[in-house]
Amino acid sequence: MPRATLIGSGPNGLAAAVALARAGYAVEVVEAAGTIGGGVRSAASTLPGYVHDVCSAVHPGAYSSPFFRAFGRDRIDWIVPEISYAHPLDGGRAGIAWRDLERTADALGPDARAWRALLRPLSAHIEGVLDLTGGSLLRIPGDPVTAVRFGLRMLEQGSAMARRTFRTAEAAALVAGVVAHANTALPAPSGAAAGLLLLAQAHAGGWAFPRGGAQRIADALADDLRAHGGEIRTSSPIADLSGLDWGDPVRGDLLILNTSPRLALTLRDVPSAYARGIRSYRYGAAAAKVDFALDGPVPWSAPDVARAPTVHVGGTRAEVWASENAVAQGRVSERPYVLVAQPSVLDDTRAPAGGHTLWTYIHAPARSDVDATELVIRQIERFAPGFRDRILAAHAVTPRERVRLNPAEIGGDIFGGAFTMRQAFVRPVLAREPWRTPMRGVYLASAATPPGPGVNGMSGWHAARVALADAGERVGLADLFGS
Ligand SMILES: Cc1cc2nc3c(=O)[nH]c(=O)nc-3n(C[C@H](O)[C@H](O)[C@H](O)COP(=O)(O)OP(=O)(O)OC[C@H]3O[C@@H](n4cnc5c(N)ncnc54)[C@H](O)[C@@H]3O)c2cc1C
Repeated sequence: MPRATLIGSGPNGLAAAVALARAGYAVEVVEAAGTIGGGVRSAASTLPGYVHDVCSAVHPGAYSSPFFRAFGRDRIDWIVPEISYAHPLDGGRAGIAWRDLERTADALGPDARAWRALLRPLSAHIEGVLDLTGGSLLRIPGDPVTAVRFGLRMLEQGSAMARRTFRTAEAAALVAGVVAHANTALPAPSGAAAGLLLLAQAHAGGWAFPRGGAQRIADALADDLRAHGGEIRTSSPIADLSGLDWGDPVRGDLLILNTSPRLALTLRDVPSAYARGIRSYRYGAAAAKVDFALDGPVPWSAPDVARAPTVHVGGTRAEVWASENAVAQGRVSERPYVLVAQPSVLDDTRAPAGGHTLWTYIHAPARSDVDATELVIRQIERFAPGFRDRILAAHAVTPRERVRLNPAEIGGDIFGGAFTMRQAFVRPVLAREPWRTPMRGVYLASAATPPGPGVNGMSGWHAARVALADAGERVGLADLFGS
């Protein structure tokens, strides 16, 4: 039986591991951290009984991804909220992205038509959007019409033209809040691409998240892996691959890296052109994260915001762009854009009765020592006066500390490499199948390969797919999962 050694147990590593175990490989996953999951872990980081997501919290990408749909949606207890996300503004106003596109548009008054025109063609053709954004961009898209529409809107929303799309502050903020996920200077086409995908998902499948926390995603994958004979070894960081016994590539054994691609350079006989490509791959800005344990819900001024598991805090589009541009210039805005998740508004397993967990992060310069606690409290207070009084405990992780949680987060970059337009194509090198390395039997399966950041398992699936094809087995998801 051929062996497959996976370094890293993030969602992409486990997705590749599950696929290979089902394809008949003897799989071993080797993980640096003491617990499995990488970006899909949960822990009681503030107080006992308060379950916080260590990295990702909201999972539209996993819920809609071809990999996870084949794996089986029913193997994770998904909560699909009625409100995908909310964006509060001063004066008790808020933009609300209902899963129902029509309801969202109707509430936007003078922008109802513009909202429909932007998002109906994308959410109605979500499979085309997912096909375009779910793999390498160096191929002919399955739904060319949707791909062209997506591309044109990306150019519009990724440039100063975005200022002309909407008249209301609510609609403009709803778009700015998703575009800003990309952690890059704005406006930018890469941010617009990330934002349009998230918006299409907001009105199609929804911004789902697992009851019990992100860890449930890792646990479901690990259960399946073990059921197919795979093993996982934790607390085992690998700093150098040259001495690792991962088998014999001539016999068909595989080494799959769910890590920074830099680890590949510790192998012997790396072709110099490939090494140059990996060295010139760029890492981006970081995240400064704060988890809060609360003795009650956040007292948002706008009532519907209290029902939204995901909230973008940061004021108007101009403020959100200014916050992101400050980070790109190596600073943190005094009024930062804050990503907020309040899963306990719909998931009562996350905190003791009456209590709530709050997950927040801001973008911050790489390798900085930014403790975002006070900045986040002040921004949330602005839209939820009295928030400070609800805090029982807080736990902050600075950008510099992130790499200790996950060696793949170089400088605290949570995306596995800057998400720029160039690096949407060159990820980490320019190749039609960038999951394959020039070293025989060695593959990359992390967010440093297409489709890039986010929990969707697709980088892992593509790495396994290409490795299996190289071994002469052309299999699809349906062959492995029977769906
Ligand atoms: C704070 C934060 C918030 C986020 N929010 C969201 C969100 O809400 N929704 C979303 O979809 N995405 C979110 N993301 C992004 C998402 O978590 C990542 O894109 C995703 O986890 C990438 O998966 P991966 O498998 O490629 O890598 P990772 O999840 O990074 O996993 C890599 C694994 O490899 C291990 N590893 C690395 N190097 C070594 C080594 N040398 N030896 C042994 N093991 C090693 C690491 O410990 C880790 O377990 C967030 C990320 C962070 C950090």
